[in-house]
Amino acid sequence: MIKTAALWQHPLILCSLAAVFLCAVTSGASPCDDSLLVDSVAYPIPDHWCGKKLDSSAIARPKDLVRLPQELTFEEYRIYVLPETREAFVRMAAAAKRDGIDLIVDSGFRSPSFQLRLIRNRLKAGESIDYVLKSVAPPGYSQHHSGRAVDLVPSEARFAFTTTYKWLRENASRFGFIESLPEPKDDNNMFWEAWHWYYTGTH
Ligand SMILES: [Zn+2]
Repeated sequence: MIKTAALWQHPLILCSLAAVFLCAVTSGASPCDDSLLVDSVAYPIPDHWCGKKLDSSAIARPKDLVRLPQELTFEEYRIYVLPETREAFVRMAAAAKRDGIDLIVDSGFRSPSFQLRLIRNRLKAGESIDYVLKSVAPPGYSQHHSGRAVDLVPSEARFAFTTTYKWLRENASRFGFIESLPEPKDDNNMFWEAWHWYYTGTH
């Protein structure tokens, strides 16, 4: 989304206002003019994250969050989400339990600063920024900032082949959850995160 104050910076606006040579200069620019600063190095935000930055009002504040019941969290981690996410998840987990499925969460709310630490650690471990940003959202771009996203165990590729995933595909929408990072239909540089479910609030 383009903020009003930044309209003049946008290539399309420039093209409509400026001379041909200016359009030629700007049309080659990334549609995303944001960058990610890690330890004084500015990395451009890859195109596949463009337009996905959360509005600051969508980032949950710590005082808005509640802890998920520890029996629903991996190794009793302290995991926090919005109250409405918690309520819906608890109801969904109870329904899953009745069908013999355990829904266990290993990540909920993550702050932008936590997200930055995740990226910094991956870079320190020797991964390239391009590779890291395929699966890790830049700070400000993660649905986990909203308090509405949960990652279920096992939060790895094999999740898509579990009975837990099958159950969620058939039932999660009844509780307001959607698979929001689904299998890509084309090569859009995003990872399929079958374990990542987002509470929409509508069901
Ligand atoms: Zn996730």
